[in-house]
Amino acid sequence: MAKIKLTPQFLQEARELATRWGTIAGERAAREAGSDQPMDFADMEQFAAVVAAGLIEGSITALLKQQAQALADEQPCPECGTRCPVEYQNRPLTIESGQALPLHEPVCHCPRCRRDFFPPAHESATGQPQLQPHRPEDGR
Ligand SMILES: [Zn+2]
Repeated sequence: MAKIKLTPQFLQEARELATRWGTIAGERAAREAGSDQPMDFADMEQFAAVVAAGLIEGSITALLKQQAQALADEQPCPECGTRCPVEYQNRPLTIESGQALPLHEPVCHCPRCRRDFFPPAHESATGQPQLQPHRPEDGR
């Protein structure tokens, strides 16, 4: 994992928590399938992938929501410094595994520069806001 700020101990605890959730999901799937129709290994693997996708969606959605809530209502434009209101747009986020997650992304529009920009994930983030390329069809 790249530049993660969580301790190995915390990660181990999170893994154990996810294992307990997986156990619960597996027990429920076994009850749902019933004893007269046992799942073969391919079915089990497919079910586990569905559960894992749900864990990924819940985890990333919660982390992004926490970061968005930490943003002030206005952010300075990276070009001219004008304070611009933070708005949210919905767009799917495709993660490394190929899974698409619903994303409620913060975005600002500078009326002076007539550009959109993405505020940094957190007020204390050291990274600069990222400018979005000009979108001539936008007309704002
Ligand atoms: Zn500006």
